Amino acid sequence: MQYISTRGGSLGQYCDVLLEGLAPNGGLAVPERLPQLSGGDLERLRELAYPELATEILSLFATDIPRDDLARLTAAAYGGGKFAAAEIVPVEPLSDELTLVGLSEGPTLAFKDMAMQFLGEAIEYVLDKTGRVLNVLGATSGDTGSAAEHAFRGRERVAIFMLSPQGRMSAFQRAQMYSLQDANVHNLAVEGVFDDCQNLVKRLSEDIDFKRAHSLGAVNSINFGRISAQIVYYVWAWLRATDAVPAAERAGFEVSFAVPSGNFGNILSGYYAKSMGVPVRRLVLASNENNVLDEFFRTGRYRPRSAEHTLATSSPSMDVSRASNLERFVFDLLGRDPERTAAAWRELAETGQIDLSAEQPRLETEFGFVSGTSTHADRLATIRSVFESTGVTIDPHTADGVKVARGHIEPGIPMLVLETAKPEKFADTIAEALGTPIETDAATRALLDAPQRVTDIADDEQLLRSFIAERALRA
Ligand SMILES: *Cc1c(COP(=O)(O)O)cnc(C)c1O
Repeated sequence: MQYISTRGGSLGQYCDVLLEGLAPNGGLAVPERLPQLSGGDLERLRELAYPELATEILSLFATDIPRDDLARLTAAAYGGGKFAAAEIVPVEPLSDELTLVGLSEGPTLAFKDMAMQFLGEAIEYVLDKTGRVLNVLGATSGDTGSAAEHAFRGRERVAIFMLSPQGRMSAFQRAQMYSLQDANVHNLAVEGVFDDCQNLVKRLSEDIDFKRAHSLGAVNSINFGRISAQIVYYVWAWLRATDAVPAAERAGFEVSFAVPSGNFGNILSGYYAKSMGVPVRRLVLASNENNVLDEFFRTGRYRPRSAEHTLATSSPSMDVSRASNLERFVFDLLGRDPERTAAAWRELAETGQIDLSAEQPRLETEFGFVSGTSTHADRLATIRSVFESTGVTIDPHTADGVKVARGHIEPGIPMLVLETAKPEKFADTIAEALGTPIETDAATRALLDAPQRVTDIADDEQLLRSFIAERALRA
């Protein structure tokens, strides 16, 4: 399988794009063509456990990794008791109409573990083969940083430098990151807000010489390894949702997915699963108050907002106003034409928006996308109503998904809502919704009480440079 840039040109194979999702011309890596799964193919996958299914699906994308090697990578990523549920991704009805897809059983209790655990294995594998090392530099406001640290902790060829804003994360999020004692994990608490952290990362990454000298890289949401690993759970969820359907009616049996969205990474994987032949009727995109993507799917106009106009909400992992993966979908929307895609992003740079309103009707009719926005009040009401009717506590991001899903339920079509985090991560909002604090279990208590290891640092580029230069791994 060859990979190409959305703005033209070829980028090599899977292992080539694993360390660098961004093409030199600014485009994003996408497969030259999407592999296809027939109804018969899907039935043959039904009996497989999650790691085996991951091997089958990922082998279609990672054609340059020998199958036995890939099987070892998926067994390591999804085995060894790292996930709390034996089935890795539990799929359980919430009501007659809604089903919850449990993507938050991993070590950091959010769906980012699903892809990051595989990426940790795959990147170490590629580095081993090529004798290289990687120093991951990133900024986080919570979920991505902890998922990356838990995926790379203790690895020999990777060190991770993660910037987080001092005093801006929940106690739980801080504990998940700062309690790691591994020598290759470097937590830096920056005096400033998340944008200051991100600016520091950006300035260092733009310094090509510094980047090369210290083998710096990123594992952000545009990483194609992450996108490919996320396709697996859409296939899995369809298989589990149709297990009880009579065999004769399974072929083409449609389900819809509702996806709490920010950077458009998760739902893009769902769109790829649909394009590969998984019978998906609707892809329901849920935004919070930062509803740039909802606006795009309703109007065909993409108008990213500046950092100052991005609100801090109670579903913080969706506080994104520039959806970095959208270009991959727009590439398909524009007939996979790199010229038109590049022109759209030039328009964005020149005018601050992309006007695709002429294409808007196709978003639903041809691609299956619908969307909606959920607010803080919606989140609280949804957490409460789900708890009262089912006894299940959902997290604020999942609540955004349930809220928007409820507006798009169709008779006879199961609606599968992706659970993107566990409620323990956002205890304050749960307490606000339910009127009582969430019970702290023994594991959470132990985590909160564990000793923490973090370096406070001023918002100062020079200080950061010397910190990294002293500690970066060398090949
Ligand atoms: C990252 C994240 C999201 C948004 O996912 P995208 O792939 O960026 O659209 C939603 N919910 C939670 C809990 C997350 O951590």
